[in-house]
Amino acid sequence: MDPFADTLQRLREAFGSGCTRPAEFRAAQLKGLSRFLQENKQLLQEALAQDLHKSAFESEVSEISISQNEINSALRNLRAWMKDEKVPKNLATQLDSAFIRKEPFGLVLIIAPWNYPLNLSLEPLVGALAAGNCVLLKPSEISKSTEKVLAEVLPRYLDQSCFAVVLGGPQETGQLLEHKFDYIFFTGSPQVGKIVMAAAAKHLTPVTLELGGKNPCYVDDNCDPQTVANRVAFFRYFNSGQTCVAPDYILCSPEMQARLLPALQSAITRFYGEDPQSSPDLGRIISEKNFQRLRGLLSCGRVAIGGQSDESDRYVAPTVLVDVQETEPVMREEIFGPILPIMNVRSLDEAIDFINRREKPLALYTFSNSNQVVKRVLAQTSSGGFCGNDGFMHMTVASLPFGGVGDERARDLRSRHLPTPGTRVNDQQVLAGCPGASGMGSYHGKFSFDTFSHHRACLLRRPGLEKVYALRYPPHTPRNLSV
Ligand code: NAD
Repeated sequence: MDPFADTLQRLREAFGSGCTRPAEFRAAQLKGLSRFLQENKQLLQEALAQDLHKSAFESEVSEISISQNEINSALRNLRAWMKDEKVPKNLATQLDSAFIRKEPFGLVLIIAPWNYPLNLSLEPLVGALAAGNCVLLKPSEISKSTEKVLAEVLPRYLDQSCFAVVLGGPQETGQLLEHKFDYIFFTGSPQVGKIVMAAAAKHLTPVTLELGGKNPCYVDDNCDPQTVANRVAFFRYFNSGQTCVAPDYILCSPEMQARLLPALQSAITRFYGEDPQSSPDLGRIISEKNFQRLRGLLSCGRVAIGGQSDESDRYVAPTVLVDVQETEPVMREEIFGPILPIMNVRSLDEAIDFINRREKPLALYTFSNSNQVVKRVLAQTSSGGFCGNDGFMHMTVASLPFGGVGDERARDLRSRHLPTPGTRVNDQQVLAGCPGASGMGSYHGKFSFDTFSHHRACLLRRPGLEKVYALRYPPHTPRNLSV
């Protein structure tokens, strides 16, 4: 028996009825989402604390208010976003009406991960509902407490003929993906992203894939080490490092490394105290499996700061690793935990080359007092997003798109690299072992609305004027060809 068939049929019928199309209906759903957040704030904070030991501050800024802002922005702009967009016309269509109509796709599937289990469910949901779709949400089964609130409480705030939550892990999601959807929005690992894309391909369903990130953070010699250390430590250890856009590793000169280490130690102690395990502000690793994976990474290079772990508490100390080799697992896989390796480079050119030899990252960070250095890194690399002199603040700006950038260029560079005589074997191994791409498509603010809308090309011509139209019909004599 197919456990999803009835729900899918209900949602399809609702979409077919046209009930999601009016602006009033969409606004009512968005207001429902807003009430869900306001009336269940404490419940949500408790769930996030149970799942990830998130502090009230982290839950507020990175889960609740960020989702609320997205709802507010959609409510404010809904009618403007829905408006037909007039476009310039050519000579033959001067008397006609040409415009782009934003239509809902239909039934949208949203699959969410566990690291920001509320925000990464709600932010795409806002866009999908604003665009007039029916939505099936599949939250992560790993962040169990938040999953429970999303499944049991959220539907009460939305029209249940148009929205549903389904539960399940890999097996159930695999079964769900056998069905045809009109759009699939997936946030998660590159490995599962490939499974989702392959399943979507069977139905030619369009997808957005928000995937992983091994995000480089270049620190120029010309900057204040303490300021950089504060900012990098804050964004690296936020949510205990389990953030797709967290700075994943530092690239800097050996001289800058020597200045950064005491500054990073000072920032970590100021943020989390002498015993970070007892800090209410440091999260925990989501699962035993991820804890064991991270514990394994602690043996890469040499521990310069931190390095402690406690299995009973799924605690990993804020850690900095030095003397790390490119071929070690910590430089080959997305870290997704509170571990920050430092790789040494001798120059800006070497840093840029290092970055360009890997998959295009989800985010790229550059710290320098020199605008020129920041602009050079920006100009000579590619990434989903970029932030100069800070961590992932670019993703808080709703007027900027948020998303990855696939892996075409890295593959290009890889194929250029591998056959070149003299290429070090190490390079080949590193490149072959790089984590997957950062994804495709983008969202946030109006970009979400556009992502979840089909942009329909419309031209309305006149029923009359047949004498003019007739000039194009055969037979094509020299007379009508010259017109
Ligand atoms: P994941 O890929 O393991 O799981 C994501 C979702 O896919 C979950 O809902 C899960 O139930 C489902 N899933 C897992 N295995 C599946 C399978 N075999 N078939 C079908 N569905 C399956 O990712 P995760 O561990 O939840 O999250 C961590 C990853 O997500 C990291 O790589 C991180 O970088 C990435 N991420 C990306 C963003 C972004 O915006 N780009 C945001 C957060 C997390």
